[in-house]
Amino acid sequence: TDTDTSDEAVRATCDDATTCKRFATSKSYWKDPYIQYFARSVGERKAPEINRGYYARVRGVNHLLDAFIRKAECDCQVINVGAGLDTTFWRLKDENLLPRKFFEVDFPAVVARKIHNIKTKPPLSKPLIETHSTDSLLLDAHSLDSDRFCIIGADLRDISNLDEKLKKFQLNPELPTLLVSECVLVYMTPSQSSNLVRWAAETFHTAMFINYEQKERFLKTGWEHADALDMMTVYSMLPQDDVARIERLEFLDERELLQQLLQHYSICWATKDKHNLGNSQSCY
Ligand code: SAM
Repeated sequence: TDTDTSDEAVRATCDDATTCKRFATSKSYWKDPYIQYFARSVGERKAPEINRGYYARVRGVNHLLDAFIRKAECDCQVINVGAGLDTTFWRLKDENLLPRKFFEVDFPAVVARKIHNIKTKPPLSKPLIETHSTDSLLLDAHSLDSDRFCIIGADLRDISNLDEKLKKFQLNPELPTLLVSECVLVYMTPSQSSNLVRWAAETFHTAMFINYEQKERFLKTGWEHADALDMMTVYSMLPQDDVARIERLEFLDERELLQQLLQHYSICWATKDKHNLGNSQSCY
């Protein structure tokens, strides 16, 4: 059907994100020792402005994510929706920043591929086993569940199924919760994405939602507070010694091109903090 074909095209976008990130890390824009296990080769060259765009995206999202986890002193959970082949779980483990539980959701077909990679690559499976206390680790074709990491195959447009699966894997609505969607909501209709955002607002009393997307997309349904910065602004707020470092990596003669690109994207974050635990303070 048409839906199958367009969903297949959406699923393929996780490989675009991963190959672009793999290429940028091969050029030392940032370090990610795990991404090589999800993208077979470095692939063809990407333009410098694309690499800088990914640099700003990864640094910007990580900044907000790490700030939330630090503030909660890791006594929180993270749900990465449309996580694709994202490697954040392994980074957080290496940086001693693992939340109580890290959840990922994506289409079952994407999850199956990710789980296959984890099963067959010891650098991916070892950290998972290390953070698991019993021998009852659940690992089947479409889901993985350990003490600290859970990957769920589900369609984000089907909220009741999503809610049911997350709860089956011990999602705790009482914990401060960080939701992350990086280039995901744009693949749904406005009503589908607002259902997801509203579900998050209704489910957790203390939460933050980080969304990386094209501007003007995020809906504030049910959230107490929302902010957005376009990526040119984020880029100018990143640690300038590191920005100077990556700007020396590759020559870019037209700075205007980078500006135009970055201005089309934004990071937005919405918070709610019913019990005033302090998570809604602006992170930038
Ligand atoms: N967040 C990852 C990143 O930034 O590297 C992947 C981004 S990729 C552009 C979009 C991801 O969202 C894909 O992995 C796709 O399968 C997932 N996705 C989009 N719509 C979805 C839906 N309705 N249900 C589950 N996953 C979805």
